[in-house]
Amino acid sequence: MSLIVQKYGGTSVASVERIQAVADKVAGFREQGHDIVVVVSAMSGETNRLIGMASEMQATPDPRELDVLVSTGEQVTIALLCMALKDRGWEAKSYTGGQVKILTDNSHNKARILNIDQAPMRSDLDAGRVVVVAGFQGVDESGAITTLGRGGSDTTGVALAAALKADECQIYTDVDGVYTTDPRVVDGARRLDHITFEEMLEMASLGSKVLQIRAVEFAGKYNVPLRVLHSFQDGPGTLITLDEDLNKMEQPVVAGIAFNRDEAKLTVRGVPDIPGAASKLLAPIGEANIEVDVIVQNVAADGTTDLTFTVHRNDVDKAAKVLRGVASQLQAKEVTYDDKIVKISIVGVGMRSHAGVASRMFNTLATEGINIQMITTSEIKISVIIEERYLELAVRSLHSSFDLDKEPTEEKA
Ligand code: ADP
Ligand code: ASP
Ligand code: MG
Repeated sequence: MSLIVQKYGGTSVASVERIQAVADKVAGFREQGHDIVVVVSAMSGETNRLIGMASEMQATPDPRELDVLVSTGEQVTIALLCMALKDRGWEAKSYTGGQVKILTDNSHNKARILNIDQAPMRSDLDAGRVVVVAGFQGVDESGAITTLGRGGSDTTGVALAAALKADECQIYTDVDGVYTTDPRVVDGARRLDHITFEEMLEMASLGSKVLQIRAVEFAGKYNVPLRVLHSFQDGPGTLITLDEDLNKMEQPVVAGIAFNRDEAKLTVRGVPDIPGAASKLLAPIGEANIEVDVIVQNVAADGTTDLTFTVHRNDVDKAAKVLRGVASQLQAKEVTYDDKIVKISIVGVGMRSHAGVASRMFNTLATEGINIQMITTSEIKISVIIEERYLELAVRSLHSSFDLDKEPTEEKA
């Protein structure tokens, strides 16, 4: 018999009825004799609702108090699920992150897990109980409640699976696996049987929110077998694996397409083309705790240059303010910004061994009349920044161009 960690996301526990359906499902696994640790998210929409209330109290809610608030969402679902399991005749025990204890650093709202005490969970499992743990939360050394960043219950699931050396970590959600691109945007998106950790890591970091990036990092580091599945439909889901050979059989050069609507672009024009200018402009952005993503600097023609970079949309006003200050000190001409942009990325380990991928991507976009504003590449991905209104068209045409669309036979099935 196996030890399985199962994580159920927000839509899977969105109502009393769905929590009861999760309890039925967990009971089914117990009947087969498996030891089960369940991680649950808050009911869907609850975390947003709590953050909304916090924003009404303070323009920038106090990070410590925000964690005290948002961690309550998961406390509701662990208790309800345990009640439903007991009602079905199964012993179950709920744990908050602090009760486990999931020790994290003290970076409120984006804490990292440092250690997990698995002994109490182990003795409950030995006593035949289902262990139900609140996702997304931990506790720092001083005892303060911390949270792991949006989507952080995935990371709780994987971290518990690593600590308990579980046979598998199953991420149950509202899609039946990892797709070639977000199936809610492209009808022709196809479920992948396997994807490598490396590709999944890129997909997650480039905007595919099906798994939190830290969960994938954790699973890769501790070699946790990780599978994404539908909560209420049977099927094999998608296995995230270290085995590239498995993936090569299935996938061509590009494994998937990710996109991110959360970025905005800032440009400083007429920057004197002298050593240190980029550093003078970007250092204060870093000091203001703003993360910079794509950066492009033009070749200077008249002794001045333009520097463009992207940041999270939520940070664009703050970034523009900081930038205007330094730009005037440097006697740059102007600072502009545009938050109607998106980043689209193609990802695949196959790019290492294939030439011409970039030109195929650029050609596809050109054929659709889509202008590329910025480009950035790494060994296994190419990202472009384009106008937001072309997002769906660009993803759909790249999806076809890289042969990712569903086989016609599959569509009939
Ligand atoms: P949960 O609440 O269960 O954690 P999420 O909303 O965080 O669920 O993640 C599932 C969603 O991820 C899907 O509904 C889908 O729209 C989105 N998604 C984005 N990219 C992909 C992809 N490549 N494959 C599957 N789902 C994706
Ligand atoms: N409830 C948290 C969120 O909405 C964590 C999670 O669902 O993974 O981000
Ligand atoms: Mg999620």
